[in-house]
Amino acid sequence: MATGTFESVAPATGEVLGSFPRSSAADVDGAVAKAKAAFEDWRLVPAPERGNILFRFAELLRAHKDELADLMTREMGKVKAEAGGDVQEAIDMSYYMGGEGRRLFGHTTPSELRDKFMMSVRMPVGVVGAITPWNFPIAIPSWKLTPALVCGNTVVLKPAEDTPLLADRFVQLLEEAGVPDGVVNVVHGYGEEAGDALVRHPDVPVITFTGSRETGIAVTKAAADLLKHVHLELGGKNAIIVMDDADVDLAVNGIVWSAFGTSGQRCTAASRVIVHRSVYHDLQTKLVAAAERLKLGPGWEDETDVGPLINRAALDKVHSYTEIGKDEGAKLLTGGEAAANEGDGGGGFYYRPTVFGDAQPGMRIAQEEIFGPTTALIPVDSFEEAVAAANSVRYGLSSSIFTRDVNRAFRAMRDLQSGITYVNAGTTGAEVHLPFGGTKETGNGHREAGQAALDVFTEWKSIYVDYSGKLQRAQIDNQERPAAR
Ligand code: NAD
Repeated sequence: MATGTFESVAPATGEVLGSFPRSSAADVDGAVAKAKAAFEDWRLVPAPERGNILFRFAELLRAHKDELADLMTREMGKVKAEAGGDVQEAIDMSYYMGGEGRRLFGHTTPSELRDKFMMSVRMPVGVVGAITPWNFPIAIPSWKLTPALVCGNTVVLKPAEDTPLLADRFVQLLEEAGVPDGVVNVVHGYGEEAGDALVRHPDVPVITFTGSRETGIAVTKAAADLLKHVHLELGGKNAIIVMDDADVDLAVNGIVWSAFGTSGQRCTAASRVIVHRSVYHDLQTKLVAAAERLKLGPGWEDETDVGPLINRAALDKVHSYTEIGKDEGAKLLTGGEAAANEGDGGGGFYYRPTVFGDAQPGMRIAQEEIFGPTTALIPVDSFEEAVAAANSVRYGLSSSIFTRDVNRAFRAMRDLQSGITYVNAGTTGAEVHLPFGGTKETGNGHREAGQAALDVFTEWKSIYVDYSGKLQRAQIDNQERPAAR
């Protein structure tokens, strides 16, 4: 049974929004047992019918979009427009994956033998353990649960301890849409307790995890003894390159949105800006001015541009990187301090949008994920130097280049080491029907979204049907024919 409770706290005010069970390993056992039992029927429900439930879910999300977005501004802290975007992403994903119910395409191919048929089909894997972070509290559960469900798996979800209220609403709406009892189950609580128990559970063959690189490594190790399928979506240290021929005003808009949107708490946040020296001064001046115009406040207020960080620990971490940047010799151009809510003068975990200038690619502020509204300008003298700097980090999630030169744009698309590259746009803005994920230490080769997501939640089964009425041996009986000349 749950070993106590924990509280969900509003980052804008510190107000307690609710109390939730701190699930134990025994709670995880119970949830997995329910999911395992439900799998036996759910896997046999025709996929188009499973898809229809997801269509209904999408419609319910639409109907509750304002309510969910409002709750998100309170529980997670992002501003209203972005909270609406988070919910919209889940709506789009649910429609997309609902449609997969009538696709889930396999392959057929001719046999080398006569009177023999061959195909490969996607099979569900079983109980999926889904572990999610707090920064996209509705979108990320949808990235994991909707493909898992349409493929015929059942799920145990362990949402982030900072956003349990939103996770509960998400699952309630799934149930309202018609997901049968036991198909989706939630365990709340801490990663080292409920999360770890889920990862180690012998009846959970697939773990889909989004979170930090460090936790991803712990999850991989814990799952290794049972040779589980582990799908990881981890951190980023994303760069925007601004070339000498770029539209600098457009680039500044892209940087502001990518670096300070969601208070920099996106895996795709632009925490590095690699700038050709010939436009460096112009860009720096405009970016600092734009950063200083941003208004901090609670996400639910219309005039707020930047909301709070998720909690006190995040505020302390972000500030520690300001100190690190100064010690390393980067120039603090603006920000670099905690701030009070500028709306009603109340508390909350606010941090001023922060820009460092004259950073070097090897500095810690240019190498490590900060996960806050901090970005570092790195001057360079050439396209080649810009790409080398962009690629000099362990992560490989998103990248961007602002240029009007089509040749450079195509070289960047080829040479930037990341799972996602934007041309003349910032580092954020993925759509649900292309694969989402990163190279290098951002993940382990899997992708979320698009058709690629189906590979996480299915096993391929190859099927051979021989209708010749006699024993035909592959690789042997077909070789008796004379060789072609
Ligand atoms: P986190 O790693 O601290 O936590 C993520 C989840 O893992 C939470 O639910 C947590 O309770 C759980 N967890 C923690 N320790 C665990 C353990 N030992 N075993 C099992 N589960 C455990 O990350 P966070 O602070 O919630 O999220 C921020 C991180 O997520 C950033 O690094 C960000 O880049 C990354 N992220 C990546 C993507 C992506 O798609 N690549 C998207 C969003 C966020």
